[in-house]
Amino acid sequence: MRDVPAPESLGVEMIGVPVGATLDLDLRMESVSEGVLVSGTVTGPVEGECGRCLRTINDTVSVTVQELYAYPHSITDETTDEDEIGRVQGDLIDLEPAVRDAVVLALPTNPLCRDECPGLCPECGAHLDEVPADHSHQQVDARWAALAKLKTEE
Ligand SMILES: [Zn+2]
Ligand SMILES: [Zn+2]
Repeated sequence: MRDVPAPESLGVEMIGVPVGATLDLDLRMESVSEGVLVSGTVTGPVEGECGRCLRTINDTVSVTVQELYAYPHSITDETTDEDEIGRVQGDLIDLEPAVRDAVVLALPTNPLCRDECPGLCPECGAHLDEVPADHSHQQVDARWAALAKLKTEE
């Protein structure tokens, strides 16, 4: 198990791993004929914002990674693009793109603080968890009230 600080922008718009947070890499490296096969799990904390109520979300993401890194001058090296299959560079392997892809794929595109989050009142912005169940607002503008009436009569 190895700990590394999270790189920048490891996430999507609403949720991601904070920069510098600790990522646990539990990875195995195997030499195969064409290169090095890296497999294992990456775990790290995620922070985000609920898409409905904007509350902070603190969670953990855990993803499995399996990625081949080709040796220079191997057949794989000569028949694939560097974007498709990573390369062993000297003694080094750049794991960041693979980790980034796996983590970003695992994150929800519309994160919620909990599945049934009721969100915010569209009128006043109060969290619907924190107000009585019958929370409502009087329609003050008569024209809108008339429209609302038409709608219910349809
Ligand atoms: Zn929420
Ligand atoms: Zn309200």
